[in-house]
Amino acid sequence: MSEIDARREQLSELSLKIHSNPELGLEEIKAAAWLTQYLEENGFSIERGICQLPTAFRGSYGAGKPAIAVIAEYDALPNLGHACGHNIIATCAVGAGVASKPAIDQLGGSITVIGTPSEELHACKAKMIERGAFNDLDIAMMVHPGTHDVATTPALACQTLEVEFFGQAAHAAAQPETGINALEAMLQSFAAINSLRQHTKDKARIHGIITDGGKAHNVVPAHSAGIFSVRAEDDTYLDELKQRVINCFIGAATASGARLQYKWGDNRCSPLRSNMTLAQLFSQNMQSLGRKTPLSDPQQTFGSTDMGNVSQVVPSIHPFVAIAPPGIAHHSPQFALAAASEAGTQGLLDAAKALAMTVVDLVADPAIVGKIKEEFEQTK
Ligand SMILES: [Zn+2]
Ligand SMILES: [Zn+2]
Repeated sequence: MSEIDARREQLSELSLKIHSNPELGLEEIKAAAWLTQYLEENGFSIERGICQLPTAFRGSYGAGKPAIAVIAEYDALPNLGHACGHNIIATCAVGAGVASKPAIDQLGGSITVIGTPSEELHACKAKMIERGAFNDLDIAMMVHPGTHDVATTPALACQTLEVEFFGQAAHAAAQPETGINALEAMLQSFAAINSLRQHTKDKARIHGIITDGGKAHNVVPAHSAGIFSVRAEDDTYLDELKQRVINCFIGAATASGARLQYKWGDNRCSPLRSNMTLAQLFSQNMQSLGRKTPLSDPQQTFGSTDMGNVSQVVPSIHPFVAIAPPGIAHHSPQFALAAASEAGTQGLLDAAKALAMTVVDLVADPAIVGKIKEEFEQTK
């Protein structure tokens, strides 16, 4: 993959530039500008602000079938910067896109780099699917940095929940009997959820933070607020769990007398459905670059991703490329350092090569695309 080797400096520079200018979800103005500029300079036609999202974009090259998409993410995390390494995902996507051009020229097909904002905070791919960004695609691929090379990864269905309790302020020592304690309602909710957690199915996850627990220690808190995530292995169990979690809050509201108000997040992550035929191709290509990349890893930990939603509508893969040693957690300062390290750049370049090699496999052999689609239909 000499196209990637020839662009080593450019890609490394682009990745580090995004890394040192972290932007939160829906605010990725610089990253989106740099990525689209790079694609444009390399002959892609660019549409900016697609799906009514100012930092979403589409860069296209070629117009034939198969229509293959490489997905870019480029949002950072509050306080932690690029602690999920999305600078690598983005640069890997544009690198793979540009490196796929000779194959598209020779063999046909089309390659599209889809820029998807705010994976972390808003799961924007869900909106982008509704608004047609993934229509008429045959294949969608992206690579996420991690601590192991692996071609598939499980990811849980997930929805966020915002909760508020409204009580009654009072002097906490002089007239506590006239107060209704909104903070206690929140604490009781946590206790109820902790009890519930003992009796949920394996892989279910419920976790949250308190964003308002009162303003003064000597005033009975009249207001409390929190944000939670509820996750499950499949959509059916997520629906069941959501109701049980809400029951925890209703119980606490009843016990405390505080009024409960809640709102489920607009965007929900679907479980990730990896296409094994496609994963096999990617794995072989990583292998040829000297990276032993198993199809799956039973030891793997997992969260949720809005790429799960894409995988429900287009045959997809979301593999991991190792940029840090095992034991380094995503969303930690150590992972942010890895995302700007030499190993990070190497992972980026190898993953971009493997993606571009997979594009070559796909445009060279319509039968394999047929097989991928057949698997997609059969496993629906
Ligand atoms: Zn993340
Ligand atoms: Zn991530």
